[in-house]
Parts: sequence; C-alpha cells; structure tokens
Amino acid sequence: MEYTTRELPQNKRIALVAHDHMKESLLNWSLMRLDMLKEHQLYATGTTGTLLASKLNLSIESLLSGPMGGDQQLGAKIAEGKIDILIFFWDPMNAAPHDPDVKALLRLAAVWNIPIATNIATADFILDSCHLNKAYHARVPDYQGYLAKRTL
Ligand code: PGA
Repeated sequence: MEYTTRELPQNKRIALVAHDHMKESLLNWSLMRLDMLKEHQLYATGTTGTLLASKLNLSIESLLSGPMGGDQQLGAKIAEGKIDILIFFWDPMNAAPHDPDVKALLRLAAVWNIPIATNIATADFILDSCHLNKAYHARVPDYQGYLAKRTL
C-alpha cells in the first residue's frame, strides 16, 4: 500500500462528542483539561456542544445533534480534512438509535488516520502528546489506487 500525508496543523480542530450517559464524564474531563482545550478550535455535536459551552464558557462550534445528523456532519468534516482529533465518549452499555451513524463516524476517523479517544485515558494521552501543539504529518493510505480500481 502506498501512503501519503495529511497535515494536522499546530492549532488542532478537536471534535467533542458524548452519548447521553457519557456527557457527565466528558464534562468533568473537559473541565480538568479546560486550559488546554481553549488553545484549540473546538467542534461538537449539538447537545454535547451546548452543554460544554454553557457549563464551561467554552467557545465551541455546535453542529446538529448526533441522532439528527451531527455525527454525519463530523464525519464529513473529517473526510474533508477539517477535523484533526476526535474525542468521542460513546456509551458501551446502552444501544444508540443512530448506531449506523456512530459506526460511520468511527470508520471515517480510521480511514483518515486521525487520533480518536473513546475514553478518558486515551483522551489524556492525546492531550499530553508532544504532537498536540505542533504540526503533525499523519500517514494516510493513498486511496488513489483503490479509487482507480473502482473506476470502470
Ligand atoms: P449530542 O449527540 O451531542 O447531540 O447528544 C451525540 C451523539 O449521540 O452522537
């Protein structure tokens, strides 16, 4: 497989998403990491974003609510190179009505090789990474060959 690179800029575009039972956890974590998060450009699905903005006085761009299309909006931004990091506290104990959208979001983060945290420990590792405040060249498979094979 051939690879190319995608530049994640110094000032990261971080998406924050939490399922309903996980919102308190994301809120508490965001409060602990507030100073660092404020240094970056923040995005969120609707309800998560409204909650974080109101409780933490954070500047955050809120998209649609997840089940209403917000997960898909974030996925599209990842595919377009407009999101660099995904912090997604999905709920491992409860089924979500928009499970296909959840899978699609996680899939696109994997396709484009952006860092994903699905729990507090990984979110801490990402924020404490030496790559957070520097430009980073993510290795991304060169999908041109794949696309060429699909063209008739
Ligand atoms: P919400 O969406 O922030 O609007 O609750 C999150 C999700 O369930 O994807």
